[in-house]
Amino acid sequence: MFAVHLLSFYFSKLQEDQIRKVDRFLYAMRLSDDQLVDISARFRAGMEKGLSSESNATAAVKMLPTHVLSTPDGSEKGEFLALDLGGSKFKVLQVKVSENGKRRVEMESETYPIPEELLNGRGTEMFDHVAESLKDFLQKKHINQKRKALGFTFSFPCGQSKIDEGVLLSWSKNYKARGVLGTNVVQSLRQAIDRVGGTNVDVLALVNDTVGTMMTCGYDDQRCEVGVIIGTGTNACYMEELRHIDLVEGDEGRMCINTEWGAFGDDGALDDFITHFDREIDAASTNPGKQLFEKMVSGMYMGELVRLILLKMAKKGLLFDGRVSNALRTKGKFQTKHITLIEQYKDGLKNTREILTELGLSPSADDCLAVQHVSTIVSFRSANLCAAALAAILTRIRENRKLKSLRITVGVDGTVYRTHPQYPKRLHKVVRRLVPECHVRFVLSESGSSKGAAMVTAVAQRLAAQRRE
Ligand code: BGC
Ligand code: MG
Repeated sequence: MFAVHLLSFYFSKLQEDQIRKVDRFLYAMRLSDDQLVDISARFRAGMEKGLSSESNATAAVKMLPTHVLSTPDGSEKGEFLALDLGGSKFKVLQVKVSENGKRRVEMESETYPIPEELLNGRGTEMFDHVAESLKDFLQKKHINQKRKALGFTFSFPCGQSKIDEGVLLSWSKNYKARGVLGTNVVQSLRQAIDRVGGTNVDVLALVNDTVGTMMTCGYDDQRCEVGVIIGTGTNACYMEELRHIDLVEGDEGRMCINTEWGAFGDDGALDDFITHFDREIDAASTNPGKQLFEKMVSGMYMGELVRLILLKMAKKGLLFDGRVSNALRTKGKFQTKHITLIEQYKDGLKNTREILTELGLSPSADDCLAVQHVSTIVSFRSANLCAAALAAILTRIRENRKLKSLRITVGVDGTVYRTHPQYPKRLHKVVRRLVPECHVRFVLSESGSSKGAAMVTAVAQRLAAQRRE
């Protein structure tokens, strides 16, 4: 690995040994470019399986039609409400899209906590909480009683036969509310809004967070035709040719496909790359056997992966003089935000010592160096895996359009991408190396997933107005 050679300029022989020891222990997580090309090809095959009507039913990568037919063209305008549920935070927003011909998006938002019980309780209670939060927001912000259009960002796999409908196919991350699977979440939201009463809104669109991210970024950059989330969960969407989407009629034009790449590997496609640490994470999760790619990549699991590795290394006498602490033995004590601190440019090692001490360990300088390297390997693998999947999407778009080279923009959001100091740089670099014929611009789409719900609603209104003209 490049980073390792670089380190050897700066570190003593002893320190180098430390790094080598970790490298040997985690060799299965250090993916070479050949392996990444292989993974990319497997994902490409998975995408094709999901798109075809013959294999869609059993496909791991679901490739869900979103009924979003066009990215913004800049002429959208109006005031919208948006709900964003399923990311690291639940948010209610008011979004103003372009007032006086200027391309500008303004938003006001409020974060509402979702009590743990609601994630595991009855679905109706969860939707009531969402509707009550919306009502509270409207009152607090003195938003007038004129009927408002609302877009709902719901970051879970949903089967959509139109833009304002979505049947929940499976829960992911830490959600598992009862009675929601297989039902239309737009209808549940509308019913909850009616039950709670006192708000005058029209739920017009259901949007995955990747789609919101792409649309927000697309408002400023017409080339943005891919949206990626690397946060609590991970996923991507992109604009596909309608003629390749068997599940939707029509052959002209394009539609945004929500790939649900988090489920890549659920059919065994990643078995060659899954380590016993990944199996352990999966076994202890709320959805064993599901979202295997997500469990190797996203923020909900990365910290826990590092914890399992450190525990194993300590037990083998490779760290902390063979001592372990209760905290190190406890699920969830080491989090992805710790990885982010450990990999800070300047203070990384200092942070590492503090974090390990907080976990009841007494690390030596060598231990700190080793732990930092473990974090790097885990977070680098995540970026590598995303790069491989993204490379497959970009290549598919390029081939769809019969282009030798493709100029394209990718909108990205999510806590990992936004807060890890080195993640974006690594992701960009690996993507550019894997697909040199694609000239990719990456844009951080801040709050993209939330604003995007308003954007989809705005585009839907624009298209409806055009049809009426
Ligand atoms: C969900 C996706 C979502 C992603 C990022 C995954 O767990 O299945 O629908 O886009 O998380 O939030
Ligand atoms: Mg078709």
